[in-house]
Amino acid sequence: MKITGLKFYQVDLPLAEGNYSWSEGKSVDVFDSTVVQIDTDAGISGYGEVCPLGPVYLPAYAAGARAGIVELGPQLIGRDPTQLIAINQTMDRVMKGHPYVKSAIDMACWDLLGKVAGLPVCTLLGGRFGDDVVLYRAISQRPAAEMAENVAGYRAEGYRRFQLKVGGRPDDDIQRIRAVRDILEPGDKLIADANTGWLMHEAMRVVGAVADVDVYIEQPCATYQQCLSVRRHTNLPFVLDEVIDSVDAILKGAADQAMDVVNIKISKFGGLTKAKQARDLCVSLGIAMTLEDSWGGDIITAAISHLAHSTPTEYLFTSTDFNSYVTQSIADGAPHRDNGRMAASTAPGLGIEPKFDVLGDPKWACGG
Ligand code: MG
Repeated sequence: MKITGLKFYQVDLPLAEGNYSWSEGKSVDVFDSTVVQIDTDAGISGYGEVCPLGPVYLPAYAAGARAGIVELGPQLIGRDPTQLIAINQTMDRVMKGHPYVKSAIDMACWDLLGKVAGLPVCTLLGGRFGDDVVLYRAISQRPAAEMAENVAGYRAEGYRRFQLKVGGRPDDDIQRIRAVRDILEPGDKLIADANTGWLMHEAMRVVGAVADVDVYIEQPCATYQQCLSVRRHTNLPFVLDEVIDSVDAILKGAADQAMDVVNIKISKFGGLTKAKQARDLCVSLGIAMTLEDSWGGDIITAAISHLAHSTPTEYLFTSTDFNSYVTQSIADGAPHRDNGRMAASTAPGLGIEPKFDVLGDPKWACGG
């Protein structure tokens, strides 16, 4: 099988809550998503999606993803999309770094592999563990009482894991953590994600003030060393996210005992191929994971569901149904949350069919 053409579409994904706000006053109200289509000489097409969390979360932005795909696309014409390692080697040889640029292409190749094999991507990624996977709800940064109210609302919808967007003023964040934990039940999980927003002294104040609270602390500071310093001064369970972007980073974190959980985002690693490598390494090391992406619509949610559902249940800390945060559906067949959980499709590939009336005309194409 050979790639004969590659194109992409651009689609806006407005947020159901109006906006999504996190550390240091960062906020997005409409996500800019890119859908990649790969056509083949077998007459089958595969689809992938990449959707950075605005330009200020990770070193990634939507127009950059598209500019990079324009560079990479022509180099992939004639290649076999089902040879995932070879496809990734080609992408890494012709473009150094920029993992998020490669993510939707790699995802579309997995969709093709599944369609050719007649198997869902989760089977190809390692199997299907249990009936479904557990989700968390990210709680946009607001005043403490409002965040507690939002958590109560999402808890009533079935979620049992909540990730609070903190990383603001320490006194406000301490109130946010306490206000939300107060309305949760034993067994519910609470994560305070500072998204690199605290300096070390601020992080130390927060972890000290909530030392008696049942809460996880996620990515308090900007650098690995700063996070490690905070980690060594708290007994609260600890999650690393933004600084974990490669198997090297996981190995260093494991050697330093720098975290209890890591967050693996598909586009942060460069696609499902590399996210799978990281996932399998974490299982071998005994490290639990949040498996997700930076953001996305139906296609990314489907890809997340396959990665999460193919992960041994005890290692899956939590996962995300991004398609429930936005008002625009871009594909049929994507998983939809049921009581705080979702399941990967049993159809071949990612199990989705893009809604071309929503995607409109491709913004760019190469090949036939
Ligand atoms: Mg995070």
